Amino acid sequence: MKIAVIPGDGIGPDIIRQARKVLNRVSKVYKTAFEFQELPMGGAAIDKFGVPLPEETLKVCKNSDAVLLGAVGGEKWDNLPGHLRPEAGLLGIRKGLGVFANLRPAILFPQLKSASALKEEVLGDGLDIMVVRELTGGIYFGQRGRRTGSFGQEAWDTEAYSASEVERVARVAFEIARKRKKKLMSIDKANVLESSRLWREVVCKVAEEYPDVALEHMYVDNAAMQLIRNPRQFDVIVTTNMFGDILSDEASMLTGSLGMLPSASLGEGKLGLYEPIHGSAPDLAGLNKANPIATILSAAMMLRYSFDREDAAAAVETAVGNVLEQGFRTPDIMQPGMMLVGTEEMGDKITAEIN
Ligand code: NAD
Repeated sequence: MKIAVIPGDGIGPDIIRQARKVLNRVSKVYKTAFEFQELPMGGAAIDKFGVPLPEETLKVCKNSDAVLLGAVGGEKWDNLPGHLRPEAGLLGIRKGLGVFANLRPAILFPQLKSASALKEEVLGDGLDIMVVRELTGGIYFGQRGRRTGSFGQEAWDTEAYSASEVERVARVAFEIARKRKKKLMSIDKANVLESSRLWREVVCKVAEEYPDVALEHMYVDNAAMQLIRNPRQFDVIVTTNMFGDILSDEASMLTGSLGMLPSASLGEGKLGLYEPIHGSAPDLAGLNKANPIATILSAAMMLRYSFDREDAAAAVETAVGNVLEQGFRTPDIMQPGMMLVGTEEMGDKITAEIN
């Protein structure tokens, strides 16, 4: 299995090191050989090559079985023009790899209930929501521009979706729903937007192929409210790029810490891009304080979705649960009576739990 590894900037190298430890352990226990190749992207690539996503990086990623990414960005590069900023590398790699479905699980480990912003009675026995966000279409990639209108300067962006773009992401969501509680919530704004009306039509058409999955629709404004009011009504959510960007951040905060949440971005084949949902946290870089769990859980998603190793993926997730159960916490999830550990120790403890 060829894994392209992009440590990136800030805490990226710190957390990626922990995920590699875990994968090395998985490789021994599950007798799978991983071949890692480290590549530059983001600020690290700008400093060395003048661009956030060097062609060679994209080429190697395309020829790999999976890509594991830390995070990119930092103040140093904030004043560069948009197309040269580290974040342009992120959009470029997603588009370049054709990963159109972004899977963001919002899982609340029962040990961390008190870290959630919601009351315990709303959380019940925990949360496990999977947000499937369309990643390479919609308003983030539509035409945009500036013009002079009758009231002076105007700016415009376009939300556009083709039926085939909706269909392929809907299919990913239905497949995932089928493996979970067989419930899918499609979120749109079909009362106002024409692109949402097409979205809904296509999702309903795909639903005919999945009679075993119960499909429901919800407007995005209501969904934003329902996620706080009664998050346990959701299992799998599918939505557009922009709505998904906002709702998945909201869903993630239900679980307490950014440092806990992984993501996977998938395309047509098995090649996927796996990364924590948080950024490069420059304030913590190199201080042995970052929580590596989001990245380690991203590696677990890689084992599940790109390598079809449910057994190994589940072993990594169980190892994380065990270490939390034993009371070990990085500073971002620290609670009274628990034992404070750094990035490296957290990585070591999780690694040691994989037997
Ligand atoms: P951030 O996610 O980096 O940090 C937000 C807050 O969460 C900070 O207080 C940080 O210390 C904390 N935090 C984040 N990850 C953590 C972890 N693993 N453990 C403990 N605490 C953690 O977001 P930001 O501060 O808005 O952005 C910092 C940089 O990251 C910016 O340059 C931004 O553009 C970039 N960014 C990159 C990505 C990505 O690479 N996918 C995503 C978001 C932001």
